[in-house]
Amino acid sequence: MMSELKTSKRILMGPGPSDVHPKVLQAMATPLIGHLDPQFVQLMDEVKQMVQQTFMTKNELSFVVSAPGSAGMETCFVNLLEPGDEVIICVNGVFGGRMVAIAERCGAIVHKVESPWGSIITRDQVKYALEKCKKPKLLAIVHAETSTGVLQPLQEISELVHNAGALMVVDAVTSYCGMPLKVDEWNIDAVYTGTQKCLSAPPGLSPISFSKAAVNVLENRKTPVQSWFMDLNLVKDYWSGSKRAYHHTAPVSSIFALHQALRLVLEEGLENRYKRHQIVHKVLVSKLEGLGFKFLVDPSYRLPNLNSVFLPEGNDEGVIRKKLLDTYNIEVGGGLGAFAGKIWRIGIMGESCTLNHVNMLVGALEDMKE
Ligand code: PLP
Repeated sequence: MMSELKTSKRILMGPGPSDVHPKVLQAMATPLIGHLDPQFVQLMDEVKQMVQQTFMTKNELSFVVSAPGSAGMETCFVNLLEPGDEVIICVNGVFGGRMVAIAERCGAIVHKVESPWGSIITRDQVKYALEKCKKPKLLAIVHAETSTGVLQPLQEISELVHNAGALMVVDAVTSYCGMPLKVDEWNIDAVYTGTQKCLSAPPGLSPISFSKAAVNVLENRKTPVQSWFMDLNLVKDYWSGSKRAYHHTAPVSSIFALHQALRLVLEEGLENRYKRHQIVHKVLVSKLEGLGFKFLVDPSYRLPNLNSVFLPEGNDEGVIRKKLLDTYNIEVGGGLGAFAGKIWRIGIMGESCTLNHVNMLVGALEDMKE
């Protein structure tokens, strides 16, 4: 006989998931209703509206994929790409690499624009790639690269992409609800995110949004979308319009939680939330630098919510990270890829973005030194 589920009360300061507000946890414990119950359909409409608000878009095709951020990523590519399409994908960390892998599986011809991990993709690099590519269908780029802590400027790139007649696809998994993400103003054609970072909802859902131009591409495909589950032609009637036809059984409890988390974000106000992330980030930087940590990313394009740091000389990152978790119940992330074993990734996202969190982490680090 298995024992009952029991986990420690952790303080989540890694690359996600982040801490979740008690009201969001409570929402998950709401008794189930059917996924076609009129009350649930109304909730879906409200979620859709709040997704539009938080993405700062009026895009009609805005809703939530019933699967994590990677499925949002895949949804964008499988719907927009057909075999033989040429695409440009920017790679300066793990998640740009994942986009390449998905686009290749769609049969696309991928042109990579690469920058060293820890730096941005420059406007000139994009300009050059667009000039070299015969007929780019889209350019895809990560707004907040969680593997390194780099914040990618998007506006200046978007203009170039559209002048070349391509669509702009953006990974906003880590930026969403933690820093400005203006989908309409920045002319982003397809955007996907996750729920477990600055939104502070449980992982497992992926809000997405498609512009009219992206919908036009979708509607004029010559071949069917390779994935049945992610085919937006089919899913969209479940999330909008008068049909509300069964497509799949929505994860009802997770949508309850998402609804509450989105309400909390809008109650705080997007601008206030962005400001909070900046303020707490500044305190974290000054305290960590005081302890001898060094930041990987240049301050001009450093993410406020995902801080990649080298530990002071002579410290074994794995040993200290384990002790933080085992003794202090604080989770921070280790490095990925080229930075595995070399850096920590400290998340201050959503509910985990408070001065208390910074003080708890810094207190534990000081305590360990004694
Ligand atoms: N893109 C970025 C930038 C991410 O940070 C992540 C997850 O950390 C993903 C995509 C994939 O999201 P998920 O792990 O929810 O599938």
